[in-house]
Amino acid sequence: MRTITVVGASLAGLRAAEALRQKGFDGTITVVGAESRLPYDRPPLSKQVLAGEWGVDRVQLRDEERYGELDLDLRLGVRATGLDVAASTVALADGTTVLFDGLVIATGASPRVLPGMPDMPGLFTLRTLDDAIGLSDAVGRPGCRVVVVGAGFIGSEVAATCHRRGATVTVLEALPVPLARVLGGEMGKVCGQLHVDEGVDLRCGVGVAAVEGDERVERVVLSDGRKIDADVVVVGVGVSPATAWLDGSGLALRDGVLCDDRCFAAGSAGRIVAAGDVARWHNPWLGADMRVEHWTNAAEQGDHAAKNLLAGPDAAEPYAPVPFFWSDQYDVKIQYVGHSAPDDEIALVHGSPADRKFVVLYGRDGRLTGALAFSRPRQLMTYRRLLAEGASWETALAQEVG
Ligand SMILES: Cc1cc2nc3c(=O)[nH]c(=O)nc-3n(C[C@H](O)[C@H](O)[C@H](O)COP(=O)(O)OP(=O)(O)OC[C@H]3O[C@@H](n4cnc5c(N)ncnc54)[C@H](O)[C@@H]3O)c2cc1C
Repeated sequence: MRTITVVGASLAGLRAAEALRQKGFDGTITVVGAESRLPYDRPPLSKQVLAGEWGVDRVQLRDEERYGELDLDLRLGVRATGLDVAASTVALADGTTVLFDGLVIATGASPRVLPGMPDMPGLFTLRTLDDAIGLSDAVGRPGCRVVVVGAGFIGSEVAATCHRRGATVTVLEALPVPLARVLGGEMGKVCGQLHVDEGVDLRCGVGVAAVEGDERVERVVLSDGRKIDADVVVVGVGVSPATAWLDGSGLALRDGVLCDDRCFAAGSAGRIVAAGDVARWHNPWLGADMRVEHWTNAAEQGDHAAKNLLAGPDAAEPYAPVPFFWSDQYDVKIQYVGHSAPDDEIALVHGSPADRKFVVLYGRDGRLTGALAFSRPRQLMTYRRLLAEGASWETALAQEVG
């Protein structure tokens, strides 16, 4: 391979480019990114950037010097619009095309919006640095009333940060408790309680019928007709993998770019890999296809997929991580490792939810499937290791974590 193109200039794409150079690839690396900014880190957007504590400089993933060292052909501020697998070209929105011998797809995900919702001042989603700066400015106004739609991780972080900034915050969640699909009902309730204890108005089991306002957002109308006045509405109802540009390319798209266990896109003859939020791959650790929307996976899969692309299909290695993520809400660091189902068995093995410091394990069919910790990072790591080893439920329960 002499020319490798990376589409998506964020965490997974950058890690892929770095892995190629680290492995001694000295051909051309073209990196195409829809945003005009150099790659930056997204987790601080709902935390320090929204809090007004960090500026643009603090979130850069690498300094400018590093891009010089990597010797990348950076095409920023231009979107890829199509892929022709047979011709080995990527079409860009500026009318140019990029030829490739190998391709890394790392286009991430885009926030979902509420159906039929108008685009008006005061209505936000949060994915980009510009979203975060705009939202931070809006909630910084004295007496700001914020309604967050969706109590997932991003919605919950937004609620916590806005509350800390002195805004009056209401969180609307369609499910009976937040995060029930990820953490199950009991732990979802514990997460919801964080908001309640801090004085955030959490309303579960409610739908949103409309967001109304003349010039800008003024209120949210609930599906039961009740209204909540708002200056700012943040919609955090999940993301969709950014695959529209691949429609018609012949790649298999199934809520993400479908890949094998080595991150090669199905049917791409070992020339195309995908990584990060956009990739659905067969994870041998789980024994099933999965897509992960978290930082650690984007970093590790970007690195792994790029190395596999260079190695070629025969020498490529399976990508079998134990999924991991964290979320910072109020004074709590929430961390989760594994892949449990909402109805898995759970057991409290350390601390107490009332103290906001604990570890809970998830298990099914005699196996450990996941572990959740509130502000207990060291203890959680023990279970991360056990999960990687495929430990039994009994072994996990018997583990001393101090
Ligand atoms: C506000 C926020 C807070 C988060 N907090 C946490 C956290 O606390 N813990 C955690 O584990 N994870 C967190 N995450 C998730 C984590 O940031 C993502 O998993 C990670 O950014 C995924 O990286 P990626 O490179 O796969 O995709 P992305 O970061 O989404 O990057 C994809 C890039 O591709 C570009 N692109 C898309 N389509 C095209 C196209 N057609 N042509 C060219 N470029 C294109 C996009 O503009 C974007 O720059 C958070 C995410 C957000 C948004």
